[in-house]
Amino acid sequence: HCALSAHRTAGTRSFLSRAWELSEQPLKKLVRRPLRLRLEAGAHEPMEPVSTPYQHSLLKDRSQYDAEWRRSVEDPAGFWGDMASNYHWEQQFETNHQSENFDVRKGKIFQKWFRGGKTNLTYNCLDRHIERGLGDSPALLWEGNEPGTDKVLTYKQVHAAVCQLANWLKANGITKGDAVAIYLPMLPELPIAMLACARIGAVHSVIFGGFSSDALASRVKNCEAKVVITATGGMRGKKAIPLKRIVDKGLAKVSGLVSKVLVYKNPDVPECDWTDGRDVWWQDELASQSTDCAVEWVESEHPLFTLYTSGSTGQPKGVLHTTGGYMLMAGTTTRYVFDLQPGDVYWCTADCGWITGHTYLTYGPLLNGAASVVFEGQPTYPDAGRVWAIVQKYKVKQLYTAPTLIRALINAGDQWVTKYDRSSLAILGTVGEPINPIAWQWYHEVVGEGRCPIVDTYWQTETGAHIITPLPGVWPQPPGCASLPFFGVQPVMLNEKGEELQGAGEGFLAVKASWPSTLRTLFGDHARYETTYFQPFKGYYFTGDGTRRDKEGRYWITGRVDDVINVSGHRIGTAEVEAALTEHPGCSEAAVVGIEHAVKGQGLYAYITLKEGHEYTDALKKELVNIVRSQIGAFAAPDVIHWAPGLPKTRSGKIMRRVLRKIAAKEESELGDTSTLADPAVVDALIANRP
Ligand code: ATP
Ligand code: MG
Repeated sequence: HCALSAHRTAGTRSFLSRAWELSEQPLKKLVRRPLRLRLEAGAHEPMEPVSTPYQHSLLKDRSQYDAEWRRSVEDPAGFWGDMASNYHWEQQFETNHQSENFDVRKGKIFQKWFRGGKTNLTYNCLDRHIERGLGDSPALLWEGNEPGTDKVLTYKQVHAAVCQLANWLKANGITKGDAVAIYLPMLPELPIAMLACARIGAVHSVIFGGFSSDALASRVKNCEAKVVITATGGMRGKKAIPLKRIVDKGLAKVSGLVSKVLVYKNPDVPECDWTDGRDVWWQDELASQSTDCAVEWVESEHPLFTLYTSGSTGQPKGVLHTTGGYMLMAGTTTRYVFDLQPGDVYWCTADCGWITGHTYLTYGPLLNGAASVVFEGQPTYPDAGRVWAIVQKYKVKQLYTAPTLIRALINAGDQWVTKYDRSSLAILGTVGEPINPIAWQWYHEVVGEGRCPIVDTYWQTETGAHIITPLPGVWPQPPGCASLPFFGVQPVMLNEKGEELQGAGEGFLAVKASWPSTLRTLFGDHARYETTYFQPFKGYYFTGDGTRRDKEGRYWITGRVDDVINVSGHRIGTAEVEAALTEHPGCSEAAVVGIEHAVKGQGLYAYITLKEGHEYTDALKKELVNIVRSQIGAFAAPDVIHWAPGLPKTRSGKIMRRVLRKIAAKEESELGDTSTLADPAVVDALIANRP
C-alpha cells in the first residue's frame, strides 16, 4: 500500500469554483449552464506504470501504435478497408465507404459505414472458419451452474444448431428486419439464438434473464418482437429462476404482439405453465429442422440488434447497432485488445444480456475463431474459488471481467485464488466502471502473478466496442488508466463551452468523428438520441463521462459528469475518492455521493462496505477519513461515513449512485427508475442503517 500511495498526488488540486450542483440535473440542462472548471496541466501525477513481459503479436511498441492510430484517423477509408478485408463481403462496399453527420447544426444526425456493401455477421463468425478448416475447433465451452456440468460445441456444431433455429424462425414467419426477443439463461442456446437471428437478418433484442416481467414487457413492446425465445428457467447458484413464468406475466401486459414463444426445456427447471397455440418446445420443434440454412446477405447498415443500457444514470436507453460497422469493430478490437487468435480459450464473465456479452462473449471471439467460455452460474458458487477453478479447468488465456467481481473476490481472500493453477492466463481485462488502483494491483499481482498485462477497457453500450483501451504489452500500463484510443477513434477533452482542450488536464470526454460501431439511433426515439449524445456539445458525440489526460496523452476516466461533486469550489470525481478509500485494508467497496452542505455548497457522503473480519468502529472511520486527507487533500475528506451492508447495483454490477444520493438526502421516496436494480432489499438495509 505504501509503495502505491507514494505515487499518488498529494492534495493540492484546486479548481475555480462556481455553484455546480450536478447531482440530479438532466444532462441537457447541465451542459447548458455556464460551468467553469480550471484545467491544470499536469496536476495529476499518474501512478507508476507497470511493465509485463507480454509481447503483442501484431504491435511492437507505442510508436508503432501511434503511427497506425494516426493512419486510422487520417485515412479511415484505407485503414478500415484493410481491416474489412479480414472478413467476407458478399458484395464489396464502395471505396469511399463512410458518410455521417455528427453535427446537429447541420441537420439530422446519421452515420453510415461501408456503403453499398453486403455481408452477414453469422457467416463471418461460423461458416468462414469452417471453410478454412476450423470446423472441428471448439467455439463455445459451456460451464454449467453446478461444477461438473459442461459441454463443448465445435464451430460445426454451433453452425448446425444455429441453422436449425434459423430455419424454425423462418418457418414461423420471421423474415429480414423482424424483431426477436431473447430471454434465456447463460446456456449455449443464448449465443446460438443471437447468431440464428443474425443469419436471417432478424433483429435480436436480448433481455437479461434477471429482469422482471414489467421490464420484459416494456422491452418486448418497444422492439415490437413477434417471437420470444426463452427457457423453462435457469439456475443462479442454488436459486431457480422461473423464466417462462416471468414471460407469461410480461406478455399478458402486451397481448397480441407476440405470436410464438419458443421454450427451451432446461432439465434443471423442468416445469412451466403453457399457452396452447402460442408456446412450443425448442427440443421438439428444432430436431426436425435442417442443419443447413442459406445466409441472408444484408446491407452494411441493416439493423443487427437493439439492446438497453444498464440504467445506472436513469431510464435505460434502447440502443440500435447495425451490421457492417459493428462487425468490423467487434472483430478488430477483440483481435488487438485481447490479442485473440484462433484456438485461444477466452473467457468473458459478462451475461449476454449486456453489451459486453454481445461484443466480447459472442461476436468478437467467434469472429476471431477462438473458443469462448459461456458460464451459466454465479462466480462465487459453490464457493469463492469458482472463477479460478474454471480458469484452471479450461486453461483460460484471456480473462475479461468487471471491477465489481474483482472486489468481491478480493474480499474472499487470496487463498481461493492461489489454490488453482493460473499459469494459462496471459491477458486480464476489466470493464464497466473505473477500476480502483488497489483492485487493479490485486488483479495484476495475485491473479496474474505480475505476468499478465491488464486491459482496462473503456466503452459503452452505445459505442458498440472498446473506444479507449490499453493494448497488452504495447506500452507499460499505470493502474486505473484506460489509456489510449483504439484505432479509428478520436477522443477529445472539452471544457464547459465545448472547446477542445490540448495537453494534460481535465474535462468532458467526447468523440470528434464517427467510428464504425457507434450507435445509429435510440430505437424508436431518434430525438432522444440527438439530445442525449449530440446536443450537449455541438459537433461531438458526448459520452457523459469525465476524464483527465496526462502528459503522455493517456486518458483516465473520472466517472460520470453528473456524479462530480463540488466541495467549496473543488471539483471532485467520485472515482478518485473511492479509490483512496479502498486503499484502506478493511474497505471492500466505497461509493461516494454529494450532499447539500450549508457552508461548502456540497459535502461528501461515503458509503463503505467492509471486508470480512473487519468491524465498523469510530477508529476505523477516522482512518478512512485520514486516508482521503493524505491521498487527495483535506477538502475531499468525507463528511459522513455510512456503513453499508451492501451497495445498490445495476444488474450489470455497477453502483447506482443516483439511488445513494437520494438515500443520503433522505429522499428515498423519489428513487426514480429502479427497474434495473439488482437487489431492492439493499436499499431498505441502507435506510435502516443510516448513521
Ligand atoms: P445508463 O447509460 O443507462 O446510465 P450505463 O452507462 O451504466 O447505464 P453501459 O453502457 O453498460 O450503461 O456502461 C457504460 C458506462 O460504464 C460508461 O459510460 C462509463 O461510465 C462506465 N465504464 C465502462 N467501462 C469503463 C472503464 N473501463 N473505466 C471507467 N468507466 C467505465
Ligand atoms: Mg450510459
